[in-house]
Amino acid sequence: MLNSPPRLKEYDQLGSLMVMLTRACQMACVYCVYDRSLPAMTPRDLKRSIDLLFTAECDPVRLQFFGGEPLLRLDLLLGGIRYAEKLSRAAGRSVRYTVTSNGLLLDRRVLDRLAPYGVDYLVSFDGGRAAQEAQRPLLKKGGPYPYRRILDNISGLVRSGQDFFVNMVTSPERAAEVERSAELLLEMGVGRIRFAYRMGALWRKGAAADYFSRIGRLLRRLRREGRMVSVFNPLCMDEPDLMSPTPTVDCDGRVYLGSVVPALERILPPLKGVCDAGTLGTVRRMQDLRQDRRRLWNRFLASCAGDRALLEIVRSNLQMGVLSDAFFDRMREFGLTGGRDAAA
Ligand code: SF4
Repeated sequence: MLNSPPRLKEYDQLGSLMVMLTRACQMACVYCVYDRSLPAMTPRDLKRSIDLLFTAECDPVRLQFFGGEPLLRLDLLLGGIRYAEKLSRAAGRSVRYTVTSNGLLLDRRVLDRLAPYGVDYLVSFDGGRAAQEAQRPLLKKGGPYPYRRILDNISGLVRSGQDFFVNMVTSPERAAEVERSAELLLEMGVGRIRFAYRMGALWRKGAAADYFSRIGRLLRRLRREGRMVSVFNPLCMDEPDLMSPTPTVDCDGRVYLGSVVPALERILPPLKGVCDAGTLGTVRRMQDLRQDRRRLWNRFLASCAGDRALLEIVRSNLQMGVLSDAFFDRMREFGLTGGRDAAA
């Protein structure tokens, strides 16, 4: 496993900000272990977050709504969009929106309300029923699992023609299911998938090799059969995902480097301190949230130095990021990542 950081991709500008509208969620995913007691973001802090986003020097900027499940606070989300639209008109700049959703509330009514703003969606869905139920259980136990409802909502999204991709998380012990889960999404008409390895879990060499070799086999087979999927991975500069460049504003107005660590605060607690960049009152410009990725890598490892098990997990997650980046770049070079993204 890597101790010192390898050569990592650099990004030019920070033009994207994630806002955690609420920590409330109907699910209790195994890889998303955070304190749910924080109240939702206030409208004032949401506006301040958007003001911060508009300090970015690039155009367009991107506002990403995240949670918890952000659609539980559609009122707040729409208020944020209206405010961002106002700023964008006043400044003559463009703004784009992404909503990350577990799919449960993503019905026709919601799609119609957000359609005028050209919102795109990241749907967190793990594919096959077994993987979905095991990795994404409901918070409230006892009732039937709403698998069908999520499938129906994803099918509605496909029919709507709105831009989206499915973020499909695979756990190390479920690496064998990655092909079947991706197939299921393709059968539903999903055109774009991001293959995500579960973070906060220990990826041993064997599981990692199995995971990538199965995805490689799937992509080669799809090409042979003339069924190209558009793979989102090579298009983002996020890997290692633990150090994704997009900063996050939490519900309480605290600002963090990266977008992953707040959701893992109870699995990887020391990393949260490393990513803490201040508050909406102290962080003035997006540019101040730029990471020195080599330094961050070293600080992550140093922060877990006293906990061998945790250190192994963090190292393996960083390593998975490096492998994933190299793997999908290679798949892209071979023309296997398909769809309209092949030329993007
Ligand atoms: S990953 Fe998303 S859907 Fe799952 S518990 Fe976290 S916020 Fe909810």
